[in-house]
Amino acid sequence: MTSNNHAQNRALQQDARKWAAFTGTKYTAALRQMSSPLAQGLLGDRVSARRLIATLADHELIGARGGDPALGENGFRSEASWRFNGETDFIDLALITDMLRMFTPSSATATPEVSSYSLKHTAEWFLTPRCSHVSNGQLIWAAAALGLRIAEPDGAGPNLLIGVSEREHDYVRRMVGPGHTRPRAGHYRPAGYADLQTALAQAATGKRITSRWVRPAPVDEVALFHSWLILQADRNDPVGDLANDYSAGVHGSEHRIAHTPDGLLAIFREVPHSPEAYDAVVSAIAEWTRTLPSPQPIRTERIGGDSHHHEGWDAGAGTVERYEYHCPCGDGGIIEEHDNVPGFRKHDVWIDCDRCRAEWRFVPGKSVRQWGLEPIPAGVTT
Ligand SMILES: [Zn+2]
Repeated sequence: MTSNNHAQNRALQQDARKWAAFTGTKYTAALRQMSSPLAQGLLGDRVSARRLIATLADHELIGARGGDPALGENGFRSEASWRFNGETDFIDLALITDMLRMFTPSSATATPEVSSYSLKHTAEWFLTPRCSHVSNGQLIWAAAALGLRIAEPDGAGPNLLIGVSEREHDYVRRMVGPGHTRPRAGHYRPAGYADLQTALAQAATGKRITSRWVRPAPVDEVALFHSWLILQADRNDPVGDLANDYSAGVHGSEHRIAHTPDGLLAIFREVPHSPEAYDAVVSAIAEWTRTLPSPQPIRTERIGGDSHHHEGWDAGAGTVERYEYHCPCGDGGIIEEHDNVPGFRKHDVWIDCDRCRAEWRFVPGKSVRQWGLEPIPAGVTT
């Protein structure tokens, strides 16, 4: 046994002794819980029983701090004392802790906004069948021991507000909760969501988690077009209506974030919409384009085409390439062709869609392979 293993075992034994004394169970039963693969720490370090116990004593909001207990099984200022079953009470708290770890903690300046009662249900749904009952008190206890920010809402009930990302919680609740509309886009999926599901399944079969999850550094995404579009939501015109619908769609994870105009067009090729809404998309992109000194031309995804060998005419063999891309509206296409046959060379790109030909043009000065589109300014006829 290595000295590291030895130290870990000693910590486990000390934890088990404290937990046994605190919960009024046998040491061997407590040690069995401490040693469970489910309690090993799935998204972080093993949860410390001593830390849990100390939290109930010292925490600035939910700690007794020398007085009566402030937290009970049913929540804050609950008279109900803790129910310890001696078999899964510690494992449950460890699992709830890991469930909370998957979320981005809210920043030190933001007011916590997710109700412990709502989170408790989400924890049950997410952790079933490993842990199918989570009490409001357990949820608050685990959150406090983890160091998440906790606040008291107006009106002293048993529920407290927990400092995890509200949007991420909404995503998970809708993914795992019965009767919810599943999110269709993943921009609010918590960073640890998939890793926790994998680790949970592994631990349930008795496996040790060998790869340690690392919370990714926050990405400071500059999505200028997205930000600009959101700001148009107050307007009383078709672009304003579009911006409103777009904001609601992002908020409710109905579609992804449009970092660029290309992204917005791609979303509209996927979701059902009215012709008026598409017109507003083109107007919004044209307006956005006018605000920039050198706007990025529109590119769309390739949907087909290939490059093939050509025997040639008489001066040797070559290749012929033909690629097809979505047109902006999605009803037609953009065709890019290259004939690279000795004696016959031609490079061409064109819009194969009547509607788009009237609304878009190729940005001048680019090679055929680097084609890009821009909206035709209003009043210009083609
Ligand atoms: Zn089109």
